[in-house]
Formats: sequence, C-alpha cells, structure tokens
Amino acid sequence: MTADYGRRLWRFTKGAMLRNLPLMITCRQFDDFMLDYIEGNLPARQRRVFELHLRVCRECRDYLAAYKETMTLGKRVFGDPESALPEDVPDDLITAVLEARRSRPDSREPGL
Ligand SMILES: [Zn+2]
Repeated sequence: MTADYGRRLWRFTKGAMLRNLPLMITCRQFDDFMLDYIEGNLPARQRRVFELHLRVCRECRDYLAAYKETMTLGKRVFGDPESALPEDVPDDLITAVLEARRSRPDSREPGL
C-alpha cells in the first residue's frame, strides 16, 4: 500500500465518518464554532461534538493550535499598548493577527 493510497483511503474514511455519524460536524462547522469553543461558550454537548471532531481531524487540530498561538501572540502584542513588539515575531504572523482583529466585528478593544 503506497502512502498516496493510504492518504486517499483515510480521506475517504474520514469523509464517510463525517457524513454518517450524527454527532459529527464538518470542518466548516468546526471553523464556525472554534471561537466559542476557545472562549468556553459552547454548551457541554456541543463541546463534546467539537472534541470528537478534533480527535478524528488532524487538519482542524493543526488549525486550532495555530489559531491559539496567534491569539496568544495577539494578546502579547496588543495586551500592553506600551510594550514593544517582540523581536522574534515574523512579519506574516503580525499581518495575520492584524487581519484577524479587523475581521472581528465584535472586537472588545475599540480603536487601534
Ligand atoms: Zn476538521
């Protein structure tokens, strides 16, 4: 069995799981609920569904980890307006943080 075949098989299996399990959500739904999940706003049942998806979906695990990292960095960068930017922050990450801030209509920190 080649690696490519394995990947295709896994993709098929995952697709079938996501379609057939009633408790499953799609990656798109995962994305929609991710912020609520991180902020602890999901009801217990939805939270379990969310965590189940995390267990079967590596993409969403990576996505969540990257998102959390960005949020942590965002707090570090914007939490204290007086603090200087850490020197080891890559430019594209800063751009991503700024864009994430702009795209949040309910941002709790008005003005920048
Ligand atoms: Zn996913």
